[in-house]
Amino acid sequence: MQATSGNISEVLTRTPLRVAVTASGNDKGSLDSLDVVAIDVRGMPLAAGRRAARPSAEGGLHAHIVDVTGAGAVVHVHAMASVLAGRRWPAGVPLRDVEMLKALGRAAHGDDVLVPVIANSQDMGELGARLDAVLDAGVPGVVVADHGLYVWGADLDQARHRTEAFEWLLRLALESTRLS
Ligand SMILES: [Zn+2]
Repeated sequence: MQATSGNISEVLTRTPLRVAVTASGNDKGSLDSLDVVAIDVRGMPLAAGRRAARPSAEGGLHAHIVDVTGAGAVVHVHAMASVLAGRRWPAGVPLRDVEMLKALGRAAHGDDVLVPVIANSQDMGELGARLDAVLDAGVPGVVVADHGLYVWGADLDQARHRTEAFEWLLRLALESTRLS
């Protein structure tokens, strides 16, 4: 996570939905418990921490994603490969016939995968609606154009592993266009 970009979240309780999300503006390489804020399904903080009272503005989208997908954790990164791939394939990034697709729960062969690309917005409600519209793509992640990547999983480990797989696959797609 370059600079202070990106954020991580994990479900605390499902009913009512309570989510732990990294606070705004912190270096994700040196987090402690005070850098994490609990939010509700609308992204509103439940209680002010001593130092990190303000959840990331993107927390609302994290809460929305775990609410609609049933996932246990979300990782958001400003991966350069996702920004470049969103520019190259604004209607979605096509992937097929590569072993790494298994990491996204898809088949390594004969499976046409399209990683959705949605337009960016500073309005988390608007981004949430755009995400809802592409959930039927059947992949646990979405590229936000000129911004980055949101990935979800059953827990934080799976969300991180899938984030690494998405980054690898998007880089593969970009590099492959240079070869053909
Ligand atoms: Zn972001």
